Amino acid sequence: IKAEEDSHKDEPAITLDGHQVAVVANIGNAKDARNSMEYGAEGVGLLRSEFVFMDRASAPTEQEQAEVYAECSRALKPGQPLVIRTLDVGGDKPLPYLPIPPEENPFLGIRGVRVGFEQPEVLATQVRAILTAADAGAKLYVMFPMIATIEDWREAKRIYDETVAASGLHEAAANVSVGVMMEVPSVAIMARQFAAEEGLDFFSVGTNDLTSYTLAMDRGHPRLAPQVDPCNPSVLAQIGAAAEALHARGKWLGVCGGVASDPQAVPILIGLGVDELSCSIPAIPSVKAAVRRVSAAECQELARQAVTCATPAEVRALVPLEAV
Ligand code: PEP
Ligand code: MG
Repeated sequence: IKAEEDSHKDEPAITLDGHQVAVVANIGNAKDARNSMEYGAEGVGLLRSEFVFMDRASAPTEQEQAEVYAECSRALKPGQPLVIRTLDVGGDKPLPYLPIPPEENPFLGIRGVRVGFEQPEVLATQVRAILTAADAGAKLYVMFPMIATIEDWREAKRIYDETVAASGLHEAAANVSVGVMMEVPSVAIMARQFAAEEGLDFFSVGTNDLTSYTLAMDRGHPRLAPQVDPCNPSVLAQIGAAAEALHARGKWLGVCGGVASDPQAVPILIGLGVDELSCSIPAIPSVKAAVRRVSAAECQELARQAVTCATPAEVRALVPLEAV
């Protein structure tokens, strides 16, 4: 099966009835970007930009960041998407030079875009660096992590717009799309309201955090982690309802959490209406193969059943492993 998958890795992922799903990569640096091309990625659905900030004594400068983003962009084929997520630290990802005061509940505290609200210059510098790299080849997308409320989105977008205006980068910004991670249940539940926001172009479901926050279980907890299954019907129902609300407004929805790399989950995600799967690099050929084995019509039926299941085990039983 492996050799068969590899021989088709550069072909698009189209279901038996002609529905195309974008299969892109999760990366942390330019080397990953180049490597993802070897595995048949159709672009990058998540650049975890915190990796550009880690293992150093001070924050990368605007120029240093711009060079990394441009190098990632040049690694892709012209016009392919490159989704750059703004700095996502706090919670489980501390940075020595960007101290966050001790908190009782770091996962419910200053993390993700909230760090950018505490230190707007960090976010503004990153936005300038991204826009500077906007003409390096790929189509750029800026994505804010840990958005929880409409006010969060509006504040992030205000900082973005102000930065564009202050730096005169309007021309670059005209070719850049702006979106948010859907990794807090409030965003999935209010997808209709988020979809109505002007300038909010796309969404990407972070199923790792979304599952944790839905079940109130830490995905890294030694005893609870096995229960933190993104195939929990409560998570799938949120994705399905959100996809419907976003499509009604002509906006697209990706998944960049770990479940996008799980061939068993792929038919269900397609059936729920997910437009793009952003996977770990080695998973790309097998995820593409999983798309090609099914029809969108059967996926929709599968998704209908999945959201009525009682447990993740029941959901997984709908897609027998031997068929994956
Ligand atoms: C997620 O939460 O699913 C996600 C993709 O973000 P990260 O794993 O980087 O927190
Ligand atoms: Mg996350």
